[in-house]
Amino acid sequence: MKSYYKLCVLLALLVSGYTSPIAPPADKDKESIAVNYLTQLYGLPKQTNSDAEKRSSAMSLRLKEMQQFFKLKVTGKLDEETLDLMKKPRCGVPDVAAYSTFQGDYKWKKHDLTYRIENYTPDMSEAEVDDSIKRALQVWADVTPLRFTRIYSGTADIMISFSVRDHGDGYPFDGPNGFLAHAFPPFEGIGGDAHFDDDEKFLYRSPHGYNLFLVAAHEFGHSLGLEHSQDPGALMYPTYVYRDIDTFVLPKDDVDGIQYLYGPNSDGTGPKPPPPVTPNKCDPKLVLDAVTMLRGEIMFFKGSFFWRSYPLSRNVEQHLIKSFWPQIPNHIDAAFESTFEDKVFIIKGEKVWALYGYDVVRGYPKSLSMFRLPKKVKKVDAVLYDETSYKILFFVNNKIYSYNEEQRRIEKGYPKPVEEVFPGMTGKVTAAFQFKGFNYLFSGSKMFEFGAYNRKLLRVLNNNYFLPC
Ligand SMILES: [Zn+2]
Ligand SMILES: [Zn+2]
Repeated sequence: MKSYYKLCVLLALLVSGYTSPIAPPADKDKESIAVNYLTQLYGLPKQTNSDAEKRSSAMSLRLKEMQQFFKLKVTGKLDEETLDLMKKPRCGVPDVAAYSTFQGDYKWKKHDLTYRIENYTPDMSEAEVDDSIKRALQVWADVTPLRFTRIYSGTADIMISFSVRDHGDGYPFDGPNGFLAHAFPPFEGIGGDAHFDDDEKFLYRSPHGYNLFLVAAHEFGHSLGLEHSQDPGALMYPTYVYRDIDTFVLPKDDVDGIQYLYGPNSDGTGPKPPPPVTPNKCDPKLVLDAVTMLRGEIMFFKGSFFWRSYPLSRNVEQHLIKSFWPQIPNHIDAAFESTFEDKVFIIKGEKVWALYGYDVVRGYPKSLSMFRLPKKVKKVDAVLYDETSYKILFFVNNKIYSYNEEQRRIEKGYPKPVEEVFPGMTGKVTAAFQFKGFNYLFSGSKMFEFGAYNRKLLRVLNNNYFLPC
């Protein structure tokens, strides 16, 4: 009863403030993107006649809460990073429980649940929708005692439908992009139901558009009682990220969450790949894939993730690589920023991608041969960009090739043993970057600090020296 009352209040609030159809984010100005986002998700009161000062302090408070949830710099201001995050397609369920209509622990009191697909999207065949939904529910059945049975008439526990704009539950959809779907936590009536915004282009297998299986698997997490996770690797993270659906395994954070509610799957359904764990920057055994500067920020790559560090504020964010650059692969080999070209290059195997700011440069990936390395070099371990000389040092096994960026050639006398160029560096170098006049070489879980000019070993540091715990 209590939640029904809350739903009515929220419905009234939403309907009263819902004045005009909302255009896609590209057409909206920054302020209205933020107002719409914070109103829907962070309890920002609807525009009233209250004075501007009150309004801006209410806005600042919600911005801080949102920045805290996403572990951004907490400024209370609508800065570029915050706005970029707001523009990302996502789930329409609030992130902070306090702003959810439904608070407290909701879970089904039974393990056998029914679902019904009420209608279909024209984007896909009915068989494709059926299959996506079935597999999305199976993601959760695999790790819990929950079992799902499809029914074709009457009221199911989980009613699934596609609709646009206002569809009668007080949570109108917003046209293309923005909010993709939402779902209600377990309780009678609308509880458990999942609604998909049919102004989106939902797709079955293509990495373009929104993959229905991925969106549905997230929504069913809500249908079963999960809230949003702050773990950027979790399926229950609020923003949409494309993942390879053939190799998809429910991440550890989601497994822990759902098993907290329902316990593990007791059927011995055979061995399954272990759930992926989001790397922890405080792990003393962490071995990084690559490190580079990007316009004053430091980017640390590991597996499917990167950390973005702002040296001035000591603030560190963690993101899935795919959430920024869907076309860039996971598990990269090396990355470096060329101040000469004003680009960041990302290398995996014999392929090279380039970023200009945060945008992937057209015409890439190119071949590793663009750096005039010998043909036998099929993979680099690390790259160090020397800003003082515009030279690029490629670490290949225990050797270094020095590429002169201005003259576009490998310098005479190279390759040289790593130990000759950096005396004292005996282990394999897996990542490298230059920062404030020092060279940093990563080997195993340690980081070696060398002078930029004399290349003298100064300190051996822990790998999280720049990633404070
Ligand atoms: Zn969600
Ligand atoms: Zn709805």
